[in-house]
Amino acid sequence: MKNIRNFCIIAHIDHGKSTLADRLLDFTGAVTEREKQEQLLDSMDLERERGITIKSHAIQMDYVHEGEEYILNLIDTPGHVDFSYEVSRSIAACEGALLVVDAAQSIQAQTISNLYLALENDLEIIPVLNKVDLPSANPEEVTDDIVDLLGCDPSEVIPASAKTGLGIKEILDAIINRIPAPSGKVDAPLRALIFDSVYNPFRGVETFFRVINGTIKKGQHIKFVNTDKNYYADEVGTLKLKQLPKKEIKTGDVGYLITGIKDAREVKVGDTITGADNPTTEAVAGFEDVKPMVFAGIYPVDTEDYEELRASMEKLQLNDASLVFTPESSAALGFGFRCGFLGMLHLEIIQERLEREFDMTVITTVPNVSYHAYTNKNPDEIILVNNPSDLPEPSTLNRVEEPYIKATIITKADYVGNVMSLCIEKRGEITNQTYLTTERVELSFDMPLAEIVFDFYDRLKTVSRGYASFDYSPIGMRVSKLVKVDVLLNANKVDALSALLHVDNAYDIGKKMCEKLKELIPRQQFDIPIQAAIGAKIIARETVKALRKDVTAKCYGGDISRKRKLLEKQKKGKKRMRQVGNVEIPQEAFMAVLKLN
Ligand code: GDP
Ligand code: MG
Repeated sequence: MKNIRNFCIIAHIDHGKSTLADRLLDFTGAVTEREKQEQLLDSMDLERERGITIKSHAIQMDYVHEGEEYILNLIDTPGHVDFSYEVSRSIAACEGALLVVDAAQSIQAQTISNLYLALENDLEIIPVLNKVDLPSANPEEVTDDIVDLLGCDPSEVIPASAKTGLGIKEILDAIINRIPAPSGKVDAPLRALIFDSVYNPFRGVETFFRVINGTIKKGQHIKFVNTDKNYYADEVGTLKLKQLPKKEIKTGDVGYLITGIKDAREVKVGDTITGADNPTTEAVAGFEDVKPMVFAGIYPVDTEDYEELRASMEKLQLNDASLVFTPESSAALGFGFRCGFLGMLHLEIIQERLEREFDMTVITTVPNVSYHAYTNKNPDEIILVNNPSDLPEPSTLNRVEEPYIKATIITKADYVGNVMSLCIEKRGEITNQTYLTTERVELSFDMPLAEIVFDFYDRLKTVSRGYASFDYSPIGMRVSKLVKVDVLLNANKVDALSALLHVDNAYDIGKKMCEKLKELIPRQQFDIPIQAAIGAKIIARETVKALRKDVTAKCYGGDISRKRKLLEKQKKGKKRMRQVGNVEIPQEAFMAVLKLN
């Protein structure tokens, strides 16, 4: 145990976490030439393409330092706010963290929030100044920023380049010298923290854990404390580049477990593994059931594909427990599902996986957050509103509450004014403003989560010319004045286009929605009126003018087989259109409300 080091890497996106991890694996010989691939830890295709680490994984390195053999367990953490709970559990499995800061970009919001998580868990922090090879690097200034933030000595900051290999040995030596060895009770009952799991279609769910006390043995009868379920440990082992089965994993070490579980929902990150026969009396603290933050409807483009979509969603859920869904129906779109996501990135990932891995073509409706509504009849009973249509009749409504977040933004002093205006426009209230240096300012706001869902990131990037980083955490529900804005096409209400909006924004957004839809809906043989309404009251109107003459008749001349081919071809291009009444609506229209400017 005294020769084990468990650590993670904290970094803002693109500061070089994955590259540095690869370099550490290289240096310790954990990877053979043949196995070398860019960014080894990002094993999902999607992750590799997007260049971000979505799920945390772990890997073990052997390293000889001054004649002693050490085991280094690197626990990788996801780099996006949607997955901050997973980050917190990975951090809880470690004794130390490398704080990687880009020498050109300096400290960003994500770095700080994850650093706070690490400090809360008493981790030893090793600051690494990465990318010192860049011509634009500012090593002295950024070192000062790090020293200010951590209160450490400048000599503790390790200059490095994950690209050239500079500083890698110093980092490894610091891991051994500065990070404490694990301190658990070898003789106590088994107590292990689950910090991650991965679905494997052949082996079932693979659970990654850190043993805090005791030992987990192959074949042992075990119990997951929070789900209260028992299993047999069919296989345990350590995580080299490939999994390496072992007879047992002891106190302080990190490993994987296979029990034949086929449903990802049974393995909850943050849960405690213990022995079924001699259970621990104390579960690992900090367990939470992750709750979805953003909801949207997912519908098959082809109504006939509903059952196939259901089967695909069920399979996806087997390997992504944070996806939730329930069947719903829409007058406009037919049968589909209301799905809950951890955030907008998660939503995009699910949509993309449905299309790539399951070959589904889907329509996603306007995302919304989860509101709490209360009626006059029952003012204490929460009605969950995950869909605009769940909102009770306005006349019966006592109040509505919406989720708020604490937003942390770090930007350059020059852009403070712009960022403030944006946040205030987004109904934010400033709660703190701190100059980290003369150039860099940290701003905190209390803001409605819904405003983040609606085009916030893009706007923030624009108003700060890219010099702003952003992070958030939920702070609870607050009473708010919300109304349901409906959209009527050709006088028919299209339920899938309804949105819940703050009353102060409703008129403006209603108007912009109509304008946007006018751009997006193709012209047809007749005029199509587009209206936005609150209840029976029309608040905005536009018209898609009819085509002057029948141009389609001309294109479709010729013999029937050629015509059919043409239609087939068009079907592909058209697949994201949905016929509602006699109006064709393209997919973008359902998301239009997100991209209003
Ligand atoms: P992550 O998002 O923190 O995992 O960052 P990556 O490891 O994916 O790195 C982001 C980008 O920075 C990639 O294009 C890397 O090649 C590049 N990068 C990482 N480390 C260095 C470095 O030390 N020097 C230079 N010049 N580029 C680096
Ligand atoms: Mg990465």
